Amino acid sequence: MKKAKERTIKSILQGSQEYLAKQGVDTPRLDAEVLLADLLQTERIKLYVNYDYPLNERELTILRKRLRQRARGKPVSYLTGKKEFMSLQLEVQEEVLIPRPETEELVEKVLEISQEQQWSSPRIVDVGTGSGAILVSLLYYIPQALGVGIDISPEALKVARKNLKKHGLTDRAAVLEGDLLEPLLPEKRGEVDIVISNPPYIPAAELEELSAEVKEEPVLALAGGEDGLVFYRKLIPQANDILKPGGLLALEIGQDQGETIGQIFKDSGWHDSQLILDGAGRERIYLAWKGKKGDGDRSS
Ligand code: GLN
Repeated sequence: MKKAKERTIKSILQGSQEYLAKQGVDTPRLDAEVLLADLLQTERIKLYVNYDYPLNERELTILRKRLRQRARGKPVSYLTGKKEFMSLQLEVQEEVLIPRPETEELVEKVLEISQEQQWSSPRIVDVGTGSGAILVSLLYYIPQALGVGIDISPEALKVARKNLKKHGLTDRAAVLEGDLLEPLLPEKRGEVDIVISNPPYIPAAELEELSAEVKEEPVLALAGGEDGLVFYRKLIPQANDILKPGGLLALEIGQDQGETIGQIFKDSGWHDSQLILDGAGRERIYLAWKGKKGDGDRSS
């Protein structure tokens, strides 16, 4: 057993950081802090206030195990079961993609548009909802919105349900199992204001090159077929059927996919679409309007 002095938060943090750094983890200090704070059910900042607090044997055992898993490439969020998205705490499990900051930019864009359009209670569909990150945050920040999250993975839907419940949104949301918009077609034709999706978009040939961390995420949430675009080819025409005139389709896309996706929009009869770059200057978001008010011929 270690002496009390060697078991303080201060010295454990130091040791954990050194271990993770030696194992080639990119952000050793941050990861050590997040794992330790989670273990002690506290916030990172509090670790510093309690620098001399000694860990007990049980805590040390769990921490060591998590550090080893982290060193082997398991993402911190799967170890803590948590990820913050749009300032909301979400639960994540290995059955879902870990929500990304890039996707926050997509959600922010849609929140902005929803305000501009003065949509007070838009009907929203999140296709491939995964953890429910997009659906939960849109419903949270648009207090009268109604939403549906669809996913082909029943395990993912369990996580999405938990997150909706956690944020008190179950009254305004439903989740459906199925392929893209199929569960809503044909009944909801022309009834939806916003279709939003962050579909899997990694081309088959790039899957092998992903980092160890990303390889821990479900391939179902990443793989976009041969060229990464299979889901866009199906979803874009489906969205055209399900949206109201003036409705918005908002998509996250992979870098360098903008041109081809622009072409898919044209081929499917959309006349008003816009490519947006993310904070890092990469192609990331595609917005498209179905028959936006004041425009000319927009029907397909
Ligand atoms: N909609 C979820 C997210 O943005 C999951 C996306 C996915 O699994 N491709 O995080």
